[in-house]
Amino acid sequence: MGAEAKEIKEAEFDLKIDTSKMSQGKAEAMMVAESSRETKWENPSFAGGLFMGKFQLDLISPYPEQSAEDKAVGDKLIAEASAFLKANLDADEVDRTREIPKKVMDGLTRMNLWAMKIPKEYGGLGLSQVNYNRVMAMVSSHCGSTAVLLSAHQSIGVPQPLKLFGTDEQKKKWLPRFAEGAISAFALTEPDVGSDPAKIGTTATPSEDGSHYLINGQKLWCTNGPIADILVVMARTPPIIKKGKEIPQITAFIVEKNMSGFEVVHRCDFMGLRGIQNGLLRFTNVKVPKENIILGVGKGLKLALTTLNTGRLTIPAASVGAGRQCLNIVRNWCNERVQWGLPVGKHEAVANKLAGMTATQFAMESVTWLASAMADRGGYDIRIEAAMAKLFCSESAWKMIDDTLQIRGGRGYERAESLRDRGEKAVPVERMMRDHRINRIIEGTTDIMHLFLAREALDPHMEVAAEVLLKHIPMGRRIRAGIHMAEFYSIWFPKQWINTSVFHTYSEFGPKLSGHMSFVERTSHKLARDIFISMGMYQNSLERRQMILARYVDIGIELFAMSACCARAKMLSDRDPKIEEPGHIANYFCKESKRRIESLFLAQENNDDRQANKIAKGVLNGDYKWMENDIIRVYED
Ligand SMILES: Cc1cc2nc3c(=O)[nH]c(=O)nc-3n(C[C@H](O)[C@H](O)[C@H](O)COP(=O)(O)OP(=O)(O)OC[C@H]3O[C@@H](n4cnc5c(N)ncnc54)[C@H](O)[C@@H]3O)c2cc1C
Repeated sequence: MGAEAKEIKEAEFDLKIDTSKMSQGKAEAMMVAESSRETKWENPSFAGGLFMGKFQLDLISPYPEQSAEDKAVGDKLIAEASAFLKANLDADEVDRTREIPKKVMDGLTRMNLWAMKIPKEYGGLGLSQVNYNRVMAMVSSHCGSTAVLLSAHQSIGVPQPLKLFGTDEQKKKWLPRFAEGAISAFALTEPDVGSDPAKIGTTATPSEDGSHYLINGQKLWCTNGPIADILVVMARTPPIIKKGKEIPQITAFIVEKNMSGFEVVHRCDFMGLRGIQNGLLRFTNVKVPKENIILGVGKGLKLALTTLNTGRLTIPAASVGAGRQCLNIVRNWCNERVQWGLPVGKHEAVANKLAGMTATQFAMESVTWLASAMADRGGYDIRIEAAMAKLFCSESAWKMIDDTLQIRGGRGYERAESLRDRGEKAVPVERMMRDHRINRIIEGTTDIMHLFLAREALDPHMEVAAEVLLKHIPMGRRIRAGIHMAEFYSIWFPKQWINTSVFHTYSEFGPKLSGHMSFVERTSHKLARDIFISMGMYQNSLERRQMILARYVDIGIELFAMSACCARAKMLSDRDPKIEEPGHIANYFCKESKRRIESLFLAQENNDDRQANKIAKGVLNGDYKWMENDIIRVYED
């Protein structure tokens, strides 16, 4: 083997993933993405442990309750901001005109909402993640566009990466500007680069003396981009050569809107969030000083992925806000609307939806506030919980809005302004549906979140087994790895057959919920065993079995949601034993969740994945084109 080939194999080995059967593009993307993963944590992940058969209840129970002091800060701001928005922000008008009025923008500045998460020393409000998310839930319940304006600015825009990785000089220079009303944006996506950010085409070429870079390229769908004063832009800097191999480098730059060569090419128009300013941006020889690099050359993707790890928590918060509004709408409507002699909420089909929605909302709140509190605690591996919360809440809120629309019947489909114009209450379910659909796409689509979570779920196994599976590393090393793996699994695997839940009664959770906690513990062992068996069965091809992986991930999410619900219900009933509702609703959610888990396990053995793959291949080949007959085609192929 030539020296270069050997080094490539070594790089693959470092990856712990066999890239030998991947296309060059996929292998390269995998290498960049893998090297940008956040891997160092002081504390373990509760949800991550579930995939390894570890039920570390002490990590989430007692359920973290917001301190009275922190709560008071959030309560005051929410009272002020909600009163202001109610009086000044007509969300349907924003939807129609595609503009958030100046008086609202000024009000946001006056309340310092552009600097909610910025530390007080830089003029910000220094909110905890929990309070920030509480505010975002409230804003989102009223106006999706305003919520996204604020969240793109500070969940992923310049304030967050600067707070996490900025130098003192950078923080002093830029953070105070956000307290004065400067708006920021996060520019990662490009026309050809969506879910796979490793393939970024925007370049940043260093000057000869290294004092600055010239940025060239385009960024698509950049929220706030058209109005942003300061943007964080991910660009490709020259590759470095490591052991003879070219390693792609992505670097994060702070770009100011007044830099010459920066241009807004187009403002995008979407089905929902019609008030956001989102655009296609062009960079032509934009000269950026090297001092504007955050975290360091080549660390841009790591910065982007780490920023998103906490940043995507805003989506669960926004979902919680939407879910609360849905409950408010259906409760009132189901009492008010009478058909067939009964309020519609008393017909069993609708009643069933009401129960499901209430349980779902309790679960969304439980995972959201748990993950947010974990982010505040710091040092905690938040990736898995945050990604689970994002996936679970964006999907659940979508279903809740759909149920709300269904329960509202024809009125659900009618625009709020039309309802108002003919004398009815302007209930904006139609707008909510359009506004919230995007949450299943941005900051990692549902499919990508499945892959992300599967990667993290498998990581402990890969730490132990990867060296054995990689065919290109020296035999001696593989044998040593094999011995280590055999030692590890000879202890770990039998343990997964021991029903440890018989040693714990979880009686502190009360008669209804204790059984659910035992179920979670037992099932985490089964999940871990099955994942291990699948790894053995599919080996390196498991990476391509996305449906198998997604089902494991969904089981893990259900277990996480069950645990969060029970821990939160316990916290609420410990606080006030007279209140029984949280226990009832957690119990209902867990029972439903168990059924979903059972059917997911069943589908792992009894599914039609292979047949689906075959049909999909036929679809791509055009074999089913005859099913597109007699239409006016979008694609004239
Ligand atoms: C309103 C809006 C706001 C946005 N705001 C921002 C922003 O502020 N900054 C920013 O940088 N970007 C932003 N984006 C971009 C957004 O993050 C991307 O749309 C998202 O990452 C998905 O990329 P894509 O649309 O190119 O889909 P693609 O990556 O092209 O994916 C298309 C489909 O294929 C699936 N898919 C792709 N790869 C795989 C795979 N390996 N396995 C299985 N399925 C796969 C996806 O799940 C999806 O269903 C925004 C987009 C919108 C619409």
